[in-house]
Amino acid sequence: MSQTYIPADIRRSVTEAARYRCGYCLTSQLIVAIPMHVEHIIPLASGGETVIENLWLACPLCNGYKGIQTHAVDPETDERVPLYNPRTQNWREHFAWSADGTQIVGQTPVGKTTVVALRLNNWRFYLFQSFNISSAASRPGPPVMPPPGCVPDPH
Ligand SMILES: [Zn+2]
Repeated sequence: MSQTYIPADIRRSVTEAARYRCGYCLTSQLIVAIPMHVEHIIPLASGGETVIENLWLACPLCNGYKGIQTHAVDPETDERVPLYNPRTQNWREHFAWSADGTQIVGQTPVGKTTVVALRLNNWRFYLFQSFNISSAASRPGPPVMPPPGCVPDPH
């Protein structure tokens, strides 16, 4: 969440390691006009440092919702669990795409908790994914309404 100065060489290294995608929702920098953030996985406010091992690429939505969180409450067990760490953990072990490709489904306690804490299935993300799927199929997209499980985007 911080806007701390990050040297250009470190920013470039993190961006390349992340393959130009948000570490949480996998939105690509190459298809969105908004700049990605280089986020502190452990926030500065929690003692995290501006070192490459603590930095990853995140879209502004995911970074904003993550804020200073490092843990959150698992929606199924009510236990406090760590959020997904895009630098050290494998996305496909913790998340999967829904059958229609528009939503992220947590596969583990870490994944399920991160989906809720970072609101990975917010309206904007749903509409964006629906548009991409429609565009990829080279056909006009149907009018899309967020499904009942989508978290309303307050922004
Ligand atoms: Zn994101």
